[in-house]
Amino acid sequence: MRIAVPKEIKNHEYRVALTPSGARELCARGHQVVVQESAGEGAGFADDAYIAAGAKIEADVAALWESAELILKVKEPQPEEVERLHSGQTLFTYLHLAAAEELTRGLLASGATCIAYETITAPQGGLPLLAPMSTVAGRMAVQAGAHSLEKAQGGAGILLPGVPGVPPARVTVIGGGVVGENAARMALGLGADVSVLDRSIPRLEVLDDRYQGRMKTVFSTADSVEDAVRESDLIIGAVLVPGAAAPKLISRSMLADMKPGSVLVDVAIDQGGCFETSHPTTHADPTYVVDGVVHYCVANMPGAVARTSTQALTNATQPFVVALANKGWRRALSDDAHFAAGLNVHGGQLTYAAVAEAFGMEH
Ligand code: NAD
Repeated sequence: MRIAVPKEIKNHEYRVALTPSGARELCARGHQVVVQESAGEGAGFADDAYIAAGAKIEADVAALWESAELILKVKEPQPEEVERLHSGQTLFTYLHLAAAEELTRGLLASGATCIAYETITAPQGGLPLLAPMSTVAGRMAVQAGAHSLEKAQGGAGILLPGVPGVPPARVTVIGGGVVGENAARMALGLGADVSVLDRSIPRLEVLDDRYQGRMKTVFSTADSVEDAVRESDLIIGAVLVPGAAAPKLISRSMLADMKPGSVLVDVAIDQGGCFETSHPTTHADPTYVVDGVVHYCVANMPGAVARTSTQALTNATQPFVVALANKGWRRALSDDAHFAAGLNVHGGQLTYAAVAEAFGMEH
């Protein structure tokens, strides 16, 4: 199969959909891999590494798209990319269509088959192609929070682990899923005093068992959130209610109860944020201060560590890419119901119920 890997063109997107080692796996199975010139540069993969893996480098973007049977991307196609898509092609990437009507209509008009990373499921539950980025964001949240606690960033001037004779910072993570567990684990590793709030008892049981009581697990209620607000130096928001905007768990009036210079990191900002005072920020200007509380609300945290994120993402996508290339999309999806859950658009039809419902369209 002829597989194309375009360079990502969304603002500040440095990831790439295939690494040289991924290209090697595909070429070894007899597929033709064409990578756009400098597509891997932002993630630290030079054109030469793809050539050594057996791929071809293409400078002509139009030719790259036109001749491809399978197109591998990271971000949803931008308008000029949608223009290039045509029927007979399969696109495999993050799509997040439920929040993007114009893109959805563009993909329907293209006639292409569009499979979304984020709706593929796993036999053991969860979303296996979203989890790697949640892992990255959760781990980064603690780095970001620790940095924001420094005086120069507007923070209280607190070192997360403390030092002998000085107690560690108190870190509360709200939401103990993939992001939350990874954040809590990093904060523990740095020696902070860590509590995790979740409203799922089974989830709290898993965390309690896994960390043998080293992090406190707390049932999430309005009371326990208020306690966290009063006591914490750093609060990380990591909640997710599937299919809904994030619940606002900390209101503006509650900021008055926080210690001056304490920090809120809102990882759930990509779902609208779980603090009332959150608004999306960028890596170029990640924080702002409201009522003496530092807010970090970067909506695409994994973008800052493009190399790690690319490797984590492509490790997870690789088996699906190989199945698509070897079998074609029809057989790959009919052989695997979890993979089939990724099909969002085919032949001008919406094939994913939640997206169709979001726009009142048929599926
Ligand atoms: P997840 O489903 O694994 O975990 C979410 C957890 O939140 C669940 O355990 C759930 O029980 C809990 N929860 C729901 N409502 C709650 C409440 N009121 N109080 C306490 N806990 C509650 O989801 P995840 O993969 O960890 O993702 C968390 C959020 O991070 C999502 O909004 C996701 O989109 C976002 N995210 C953001 C970035 C970024 O760059 N900003 C990157 C990756 C993920």
